[in-house]
Amino acid sequence: MSKDRTTHKKRSFIEELTKQQVLEIDACTQCGECLRHCPVQEVSGNLSISPPEKIRMFREFIRATEGLKNWLFGRDVDQKLLEDFTRAVFECTTCGSCSQNCPVGIYTQRLWPVLRKEMVKRGLGPLGQQAEMPAVIEKTGNPYNKPPDQRFSPWFPEGVAISEQADIAYYAGCTGSYEAYPMVRGDVLVLSSIGSPFTTLPPEEEVCCGFPLFITGQHDLLEKLVKRLVNAYQERGVKTLLCSCPCCVNIMVRDWPVFYGKKLPFSIRHITQFVSDALKKGALVITSELNQRVIYHDPCYLSRGVGIMEEPRTILNSIPGITLLEFDRHGLDSRCCGAGGAARKVFQENAMAMGRLTIDEAVSKKADKLILSCPACYEKVNDAMKGHDNQIQIVDIMELLADLIEGCNQ
Ligand code: SF4
Ligand code: SF4
Repeated sequence: MSKDRTTHKKRSFIEELTKQQVLEIDACTQCGECLRHCPVQEVSGNLSISPPEKIRMFREFIRATEGLKNWLFGRDVDQKLLEDFTRAVFECTTCGSCSQNCPVGIYTQRLWPVLRKEMVKRGLGPLGQQAEMPAVIEKTGNPYNKPPDQRFSPWFPEGVAISEQADIAYYAGCTGSYEAYPMVRGDVLVLSSIGSPFTTLPPEEEVCCGFPLFITGQHDLLEKLVKRLVNAYQERGVKTLLCSCPCCVNIMVRDWPVFYGKKLPFSIRHITQFVSDALKKGALVITSELNQRVIYHDPCYLSRGVGIMEEPRTILNSIPGITLLEFDRHGLDSRCCGAGGAARKVFQENAMAMGRLTIDEAVSKKADKLILSCPACYEKVNDAMKGHDNQIQIVDIMELLADLIEGCNQ
């Protein structure tokens, strides 16, 4: 037999997967239930990027290259198939809607990033501008290639006191700081109104949380970023780290302990958790009425990612006069606004179309305001409204709150 038996020593397709994920890939019945909930399917109609097709392809890669058949026959996977798969897995917004609706319980919101990482290791991903992110983050501390010393200056409210040491720290994040000023400004104004002392890192030291690298499968810098941030907060005596970006919260809760190498020395909370507690305790009082209909969009990484759905609604329902509307798909079933998974950097048309579906539904329900709680949603849905027939006022939840609290609306 003259077959080359060395192929089994090549990189394995299951190298990055947990045993659970290998089982999940095997367990997909191709039932197609997830298809009805995939926002990329909804706007593109391209079945080759559907969840079952991606799983089927990856399962074929594993079958072709693992086990006895591979040892005997040393099959390789066609390069074109690998490239098609890579494009498909990077076109996904990683919104997790397919997970939520999978009868077998395949946890795709965690699976897709791992499959992306595998394709990065094979030199096939990431795509387009995504590939520049590690070098840009290394140089500037943010994925937008913006000056680190201007991270806070355009939006940080004047007169808000920042403690050197405090139990509470606020992490603004890169997208909020550079792309969604009203959101992070609102966060700081509301925190200041609550009155508990809080600290922040100096702008040059508040580097990226690592999520854009994690989600695009580029993990090399992650340990360094995480250790740098965790140690800096620890030096300031922080017990609770607050953050308003769902993607930051997600990686902090789920992955920072892994990259840090042990349990974090502080807890992580989304700002809506902290603020809804403050409202319940009377530490924050909403002084103005808002006689309007508002609709709240659940960010994928806040609802499906870390299960925070009640607190934003508690905050909104605390506003006197408000009528809170719901999207047909909300909470765990929320439809991605198109901003997720760094896909918006490459697949602009999909992102725009998804953002417009969110706007159209909000307008059709006669909402006066569309309330968001994620800087990526804020950036992308605002983008999607440019030149669109339907228009609505887009407001971040803390931006809204800051406007309704006396002494807060500087
Ligand atoms: S994570 Fe979202 S965008 Fe990606 S395949 Fe699943 S439903 Fe579609
Ligand atoms: S719902 Fe689950 S089992 Fe069905 S095709 Fe989608 S991923 Fe596979």
